[in-house]
Amino acid sequence: MKIKKLLDLSQTFYHNNPGYMPYELTAINYETLKPKDGYTSERIYMNTHTSTHVDAPFHHFPQGKTVAQTPVEQYIGEAVVVDLFGIDAHTAIGTEHLKPYEDVIKEGDIVLLCTGWGYKRDWSTEYCDFWPYLGEDGAQWLFDKKVKGIAIDSMSIGGPKAGEGLMQHELLLGSEIWLGEELFLPKDLLEYPRWDFILLPLKMEGCGGAPARAIALITE
Ligand SMILES: [Zn+2]
Repeated sequence: MKIKKLLDLSQTFYHNNPGYMPYELTAINYETLKPKDGYTSERIYMNTHTSTHVDAPFHHFPQGKTVAQTPVEQYIGEAVVVDLFGIDAHTAIGTEHLKPYEDVIKEGDIVLLCTGWGYKRDWSTEYCDFWPYLGEDGAQWLFDKKVKGIAIDSMSIGGPKAGEGLMQHELLLGSEIWLGEELFLPKDLLEYPRWDFILLPLKMEGCGGAPARAIALITE
């Protein structure tokens, strides 16, 4: 397998990185430092739903699969790019946005909702309070398509305000459709309509979320 093009679809984790407001800030502190201890190591304190991460069924269902229990093949597959660049803040992505992809999105696909929000990552009101999200009808449409996973480049598949995300999370996670949130989905993705996609969440037991590295690649 020769890799023709490879894109890193992950946001960077760092001390005090922007994140969902109700959660405590990400903290990365040095436990040892080269000048003092001979080598550098870090201790991290963060919510599992911070920066690029997955939601597994356990996030909403106590009997549902955790990240560690989700087979790794679930996180690998063909990804379809949905071009939503230019979408307004706090827009619910609905059937009108997805219908143009009626013949493109197939059963078992991974759907990348590219809103452009990844470029805006900052502690701004726009990024942290008014992100675009998957609306209830959009979630139902993708559920009916029997997709394998859905990823977005804003903070969550659900909306920022109360009641804007519960139905989508429960419908999709209830059918073991994983959700990828806060990816970085660059405009370069538009070069090809379909990519091989690999998402590697940490194998965390007892967790409904885990930090992840996401890549897209085109092979020859
Ligand atoms: Zn999450």
